[in-house]
Amino acid sequence: NPVTETLEFQSEARQLLQLMIHSIYSNKDVFLRELVSNASDALDKLRLETYQDKDLQADTADLHIELDLDPTARTLTVRDNGIGMSRDEVVALIGTIAKSGTAELLGKLRETKDAAASADLIGQFGVGFYSTFMVADKVTLVTRRAGTDEGVRWESTGEGTYTIEPAPDAPQGTSVTLHLKPEDQEDNLHDYAAPATVRSIVKRYSDFITWPIRMAPESGEGEPETVNSMKALWARSASDVSEEEITEFYRHVSHDWNAPLETIRLQAEGTFEYQALLFIPSRAPFDLFVREAKRGIQLYVKRVFIMEDCEELVPEYLRFVKGVVDAQDLSLNVSREILQRDRQIQLIRKRLVRKVLSTIKALPEEKYQTFWSEFSRVMKEGLVADQDNRDAILEICSFPSTHSADEQTRLSAYVERMKEGQEHIYYLTGESRTAIENSPHMEAFRDKGYEVLVLTDPIDEMWVEGGGFDGRQFQSIAKGQIDLDPTPADEERTSEFADLLGWMTTALGDTVKEVRLSTRLTTSPACIVGDDHDLTPQLEKMYRAMGQ
Ligand code: ADP
Ligand code: MG
Repeated sequence: NPVTETLEFQSEARQLLQLMIHSIYSNKDVFLRELVSNASDALDKLRLETYQDKDLQADTADLHIELDLDPTARTLTVRDNGIGMSRDEVVALIGTIAKSGTAELLGKLRETKDAAASADLIGQFGVGFYSTFMVADKVTLVTRRAGTDEGVRWESTGEGTYTIEPAPDAPQGTSVTLHLKPEDQEDNLHDYAAPATVRSIVKRYSDFITWPIRMAPESGEGEPETVNSMKALWARSASDVSEEEITEFYRHVSHDWNAPLETIRLQAEGTFEYQALLFIPSRAPFDLFVREAKRGIQLYVKRVFIMEDCEELVPEYLRFVKGVVDAQDLSLNVSREILQRDRQIQLIRKRLVRKVLSTIKALPEEKYQTFWSEFSRVMKEGLVADQDNRDAILEICSFPSTHSADEQTRLSAYVERMKEGQEHIYYLTGESRTAIENSPHMEAFRDKGYEVLVLTDPIDEMWVEGGGFDGRQFQSIAKGQIDLDPTPADEERTSEFADLLGWMTTALGDTVKEVRLSTRLTTSPACIVGDDHDLTPQLEKMYRAMGQ
């Protein structure tokens, strides 16, 4: 065919394809979940576009997903009549991986020699469409974007190039045909051309999909049957839904292949009715610190998908929370602009934030440890950004402290250990634990047994300034005048040394504001302290690096 073009995959895409072909991921069945998930997204998008664009020439009469098996040719086809893709979209969406964090992932995969660890990384990344190459030696995709006249046909063996050509008679939507690898046939459980196998995989992974997934009946004759139950999980009572269904639903909304750390349900009835099913992932996503990274909440209105990445529903620091909010009383035409001003949305957001924070607070210790090691940095953003919930966030924070060399402490535990007469929560910021421990400021505190928080994260500088915890102020041991149990003798000594101090102040000139005697040193002869409201050296460095 003269109009067939052969194009190269982007290099990151090529590398991920190689990984999938040499399948380091043991559970091959997931390819079907990924295809069904994409088909479901495509149907959601079509329905939404037809609401927003009344002129769109699209067929929405019988939106569904269809699975077609051909045991003789050994093919499996997943077909949807959803939004479809234009030629350029196919090249951009299938031929490249635009996901942020791809380069880091590939770097880590190269370092990892252990197969289980590699599979874990891949799972965390969620290699959607490319997972088909675990089970297929050739994949054909035919698609036509809704509202356009001509489709495209894409085909690849996953080896580095793909072909693309016009497909004049392609129906609206997308069909993906897998030419199955012969080796999976020998293993009965993984024969993806066998109706019983495919049916059970769909039931297991995709039962909650809200579009019908149809297959030819078991007998092979008669009308296609709908395989999934299509119940919106968030609208069902918790006792009615199995753990496994919840996990699969999480995987669908999050594109994460791992199980979630925790599930959060919210139901509100009455004048403003909504349901939410939210998840805290067990691993931080690769793009957690990428500026344009999406937030994880999808908004539905009366079971109809409205938008993903609904930033009106969660503050930026909770961007790792995934899930669905289904509001009953919004219009299907709701736009971002309307959402921003909607009082009910603001109320939902408030309640979601509080619920997420209280859920984290109540996590059993082991889960909490996982949570904190993955998400401590974003939670500290919350300390700075969300003044209303600062206290609640502080309650779920842990910090390294001089109390233990390897375990972090919660602030409530610090407060319990405070010495008699101790008013403040002491901390010192610095570049590393060693630097902090060797600081002369630490001497008297160590000697007298006062616990000091060891804060090495640059953002720590910013939140400690914002207020106290449980009625106690945070006090830097490098700032201001701290007298650990002052005695009357100290005052005497100050007058005794007045001449020396005056001479030193003059001699040091503009470099210091004042020279004073201190009880905070035990072995070092002198140290530099900042004023209460001075920037610490770390913060000064940070601002300077930012050009301020
Ligand atoms: P993800 O679903 O995480 O974005 P995938 O690799 O599964 O990643 O799919 C890549 C992109 O290709 C999707 O985001 C979507 O834009 C497009 N795509 C895949 N399958 C379909 C489909 N059946 N219909 C329309 N677009 C699709
Ligand atoms: Mg996908």
